[in-house]
Amino acid sequence: MSDPFQLGQRLQARREQHLYRHRRVLESPQQARIQCDGRALLNFCSNDYLGLARHPYVVQAAQQAAEQFGFGSGASHLVIGHSHLHHELEERLADWVGQPRALLFSSGYMANVGVISALLERGDTVVQDKLNHASLLDGAQLSRARLLRYPHNDLQGLEQRLHQARGRVLVVTDSVFSMDGDLAPLPGISELCQRYDAWLMVDDAHGLGVLGGGHGSLVECGMSPLQVPVYMGTLGKALGTFGAFVAGDETLVEYLIQAARTYIYTTALPPSVAAATLASLDLLVSEAWRIEKLQQLIAQFKQGAHQLGLPLMPSDTAIQPLLLGQSERALQASDALLKQGFLVSAIRPPTVPQNSARLRITLSADHCARDIELLLDALSRAAITQV
Ligand SMILES: *Cc1c(COP(=O)(O)O)cnc(C)c1O
Repeated sequence: MSDPFQLGQRLQARREQHLYRHRRVLESPQQARIQCDGRALLNFCSNDYLGLARHPYVVQAAQQAAEQFGFGSGASHLVIGHSHLHHELEERLADWVGQPRALLFSSGYMANVGVISALLERGDTVVQDKLNHASLLDGAQLSRARLLRYPHNDLQGLEQRLHQARGRVLVVTDSVFSMDGDLAPLPGISELCQRYDAWLMVDDAHGLGVLGGGHGSLVECGMSPLQVPVYMGTLGKALGTFGAFVAGDETLVEYLIQAARTYIYTTALPPSVAAATLASLDLLVSEAWRIEKLQQLIAQFKQGAHQLGLPLMPSDTAIQPLLLGQSERALQASDALLKQGFLVSAIRPPTVPQNSARLRITLSADHCARDIELLLDALSRAAITQV
């Protein structure tokens, strides 16, 4: 067959650059000890930070809702797919993050693309941290606004971009950076936004559920949630379910209902997914020990890794990357760990900048102290050293 797009060549180039991606097949629930590609492995790469993805209370809530309301939502929110479970979840989420209202989206990717493209148009400016999640950058492309990027967590760089900005201005940042684990200087960013009359949007995909007592990064940073006009959180990470939401004031949410195309032109989440998330929110309160336990495991890992001289990055969150540099090195380290029964993913460009390939270790309340000891032993045997 002819190959007018040179797909074969393009795949070969990826292989040669150690950038080819393979999928593993998970044969157990998402948890610390998984069955994967026919092997028992200790899992250090999920985003299920609290171990809620398979929690019986969450599963039961989904089952009961499916029995009562069926499975599919059957339509978009604006047609007849918006069930009372979605509605209740929006109210609970708004309440939980301290915002007047919240709007559910089918995924975090869709929320980010939908919000940025609905708020901005040609002539406006969106200012983003260089390490922001791909969905935030894609939203900027789709909006046709001018995209200005500033060096990671650099307030001076941000201020320079704000000087150059024209039209309406939206500043967008991850709270916890997904491949680095560090926290954006949110109070400083918020202050600059106020000074330059820009709106701030915070993507709290990795903060909600684990930071600020589970209420998210704004609470963690001692901010009032009302200082951030556009707050976005995802439900597929610490909350262990699926979907996302955008929270803000009444006007923002009503505007997004009218204008966010990724909200309007898509089928609503199954109501049972909303029921499962309501159950997760219950657990953030009734099993708050999970957040505490995760913090202890993070401290244990950091201390052990430091003693071993591992190339830790400046992170206090459940995302604990080890910086290795070349993609090939990251792949070799990941393979060496896999041979010992540990699943740790090698993150390579374009997900991270050139020459900053890394092992992305994620910890979960589903791990125990012994699991961390085993991981540290395996890392020391894999001979991972400072770059
Ligand atoms: C995972 C993630 C998203 C996307 O959320 P999904 O619900 O998985 O589509 C958006 N932003 C950040 C920072 C993320 O880590």
